[in-house]
Amino acid sequence: MNQTSENNPQQESKQPENKSFSMIKTVQNILFAGLISATLFTLWTPNNIFSNQLFRETILNIELNQQQQFLPSATPMPQKRIGIVAGHWGNDSGAVCPDGLTELDLNLRIATLVKQYLIEDGYTVDLLQEFDPRLSQYTAMALISIHNDSCDIINDEATGFKVAAAASNSYPEKSNRLASCMIQRYQSATSMQFHYNTITADMTSYHAFGEINPDTTSVIIETGFMNLDRKILTENPEIIAQGIVAGIKCYAKNEPVTVEVTTAPITPAPQ
Ligand SMILES: [Zn+2]
Repeated sequence: MNQTSENNPQQESKQPENKSFSMIKTVQNILFAGLISATLFTLWTPNNIFSNQLFRETILNIELNQQQQFLPSATPMPQKRIGIVAGHWGNDSGAVCPDGLTELDLNLRIATLVKQYLIEDGYTVDLLQEFDPRLSQYTAMALISIHNDSCDIINDEATGFKVAAAASNSYPEKSNRLASCMIQRYQSATSMQFHYNTITADMTSYHAFGEINPDTTSVIIETGFMNLDRKILTENPEIIAQGIVAGIKCYAKNEPVTVEVTTAPITPAPQ
């Protein structure tokens, strides 16, 4: 008993130590368990899974947005579509020379070359007849109608080319710009003179201008006179076509031009 009683004080004196020790242990354990579960919570909770899903969804949205930029819109703008009318094609022969050379022959040959060169440059091209049904509300970046002038021997002035912009266009400044481009680039390609003073109402009020969608930029070109310009028209149609293509590309690529064009018929239509 005594021993026990002797030991008791020791035991009694130890007990508080043990109690406080076990309490520290318990607190440490709780803290440790808390730390582990907190770590696991951070790593594996649905919050984390959700944030992974959110990340994936964000990436998916970015990808979708990028794809949508290349999808056609509801009203696609035909940025690289060009319409080329081969004057008189499918209707009549146009002007005729005494030896049988027709304006239609020249127009169709030039228009076919223009189409070929534009396609080589990545454009989509519609080669159209004079009264092509597709002209009705035709929508494109531009429409160019190709014609040639009379084979009659008029005078020494009956040489050179004419360009007229659509008078009835929604954006006349655009058609005027295409005309400016056409005049300057065609002139430098062919070295032919531009007939400022012989553009007629027949040209500015050309029938197709009133049929196409008024948003479509449009010009008509008379590439030369079939008598005095016959040599270049018949022997070098590729130069003629290159001049027209250079004019179209000048407009399409917004290249600088120094020629200013305003839409106004200058002289009455010839008989
Ligand atoms: Zn014609």
